[in-house]
Amino acid sequence: MRINLARLKRDLDELGAIGRTPGAGVSRPSWSDADMEARRWLLSRITNAGLEAGVDAAGNIFGRWQPGSPVVMVGSHIDSVPNGGHLDGALGVLAGLECLRRIKEEGVHLRHPLELVSFTDEEGAFGGFFGSYAFTGALKAEDIPRLRDAAGTRILEAMARHGLDALQAPAARRDPQDIRAYVELHIEQGPVLESRQVPIGVVESIVGIRRFGITFRGRADHAGTTPMGDRQDAFLGAADLTLKGRELVLAEGTPTSRVTVGAVQVKPGVANIVPAEAYLTYELREVSAQTLGVLAEKSQALAQSVGSAWGLEASIESILDIAPVPLAAEVRGAIVAASQELGLGYMRLSAMAGHDAQVVGRVAPAGMIFVPSRNGRSHSPLEFTSDEDLERGANVLLQTLLRLAAD
Ligand SMILES: [Zn+2]
Repeated sequence: MRINLARLKRDLDELGAIGRTPGAGVSRPSWSDADMEARRWLLSRITNAGLEAGVDAAGNIFGRWQPGSPVVMVGSHIDSVPNGGHLDGALGVLAGLECLRRIKEEGVHLRHPLELVSFTDEEGAFGGFFGSYAFTGALKAEDIPRLRDAAGTRILEAMARHGLDALQAPAARRDPQDIRAYVELHIEQGPVLESRQVPIGVVESIVGIRRFGITFRGRADHAGTTPMGDRQDAFLGAADLTLKGRELVLAEGTPTSRVTVGAVQVKPGVANIVPAEAYLTYELREVSAQTLGVLAEKSQALAQSVGSAWGLEASIESILDIAPVPLAAEVRGAIVAASQELGLGYMRLSAMAGHDAQVVGRVAPAGMIFVPSRNGRSHSPLEFTSDEDLERGANVLLQTLLRLAAD
C-alpha cells in the first residue's frame, strides 16, 4: 500500500493557499481569520474522507477511523508563524489524513483504531502548545487568562469571538490509556538530512527549552552631559550578557546547545537618553536535561554578575521551561522497520525545534519522522521539500501507522 502523492499535493496546495500573501508566505496564527478558514477546510476534508470529524474544548480537530481504544494517533498542527511556509505542521496533518484515506480505501483490518489530530496553537501565537497541553492534561485553568498574543489580545477573547470558552479547554484532556501511540511527520527545519542525502530522519529526542525574561535596570541620563565613566547604562548589561552567554554555551554546552537573544527592549528608547532599562529574552535549547539545567543555572548567575559589573540591578523571570523529551523506543523501532521495508535510508537525529510530539510524548508513546528541508529553511516562505521526499516520508508514516495499529 502506498500514499497518493497527487492527492496529498493537492491538499497541501489548497491549505497553503489559505492565509497566503504573494511573496510573503503563509500567515495562519491560531484563531486568526485565516486559521478559522483553514479549520473549516480541514473539517470538510475529514468529512469528505468518510472519517468521523470532531473538535474538542481546546479547538483541536480530529478525524477518526473506527471506534475503540487505545487509538493510534497521527497529526501535527495547521497554524503557522507569521509569513511562514506551507509545510511546517501542515505536512504532518495532511499526510496523516492521506494515510487514513488509503487505509480506509484498502479496507485493511487493524487491531487499533486510527485518529488524525490537528493541535491548536502549536506555533505560539498565544504561547504555544495550547491544544496539546490541554489534550494531555498539562494546561492549567488558572494560566489561561494570562495567555495573550503580540497585540495583547487574550486567548479568552480570541476564542470567544468564535463562540468558544477558553477556560473550558482543560476538558479536552484525553486519558493517556486511550492513546496507543502518536506519530508526527514533519520537515526537519534543519540542514542535516539534506547535507547527508538521507531521506528519512528517525527522531530520537526533542530539545528542551528554557526561556528567561531578563531586565537590567540602571539610570536614565543625558547622552551628552553624562561622562562615559559615570553611567549606569542598562543596555550594556543586555549586550554583555548576550556575548558572554554565547561564550558560555560554546565552552560548556554540547553540539546541540543553543542560546538566542531574540528580543530586546530599551527604555526610554530615545537616541539622546542613556537607557534606564533593558529587557531581553534569553532562550536556551539542549537535548540533554542535565546540560540544559547546568547552562540555565550558569546563565542566571552570569546575568547577575554582568549586572553588578555595570552597576545595574538584574531581575530574571522564567518564561518557559520545557524538558527535553526522549521519544518512545517502540515508535522509533516501527519507523526504522518501515524505512527498511521501503528500502529507504534513514538516520537518527534530534529535533531542535518544539513539536506537539514532545507534549504528547510525556504521557504516551510518541515518535517523529523527519523529511529533508531544502537549505534547512523553515518559518519562512522559502520552506521547501521535494515531491520525492514528501512521498517517501508519507509512505514511511503509512507503514509506521500500519505496524503500530496491527499489534
Ligand atoms: Zn511544526
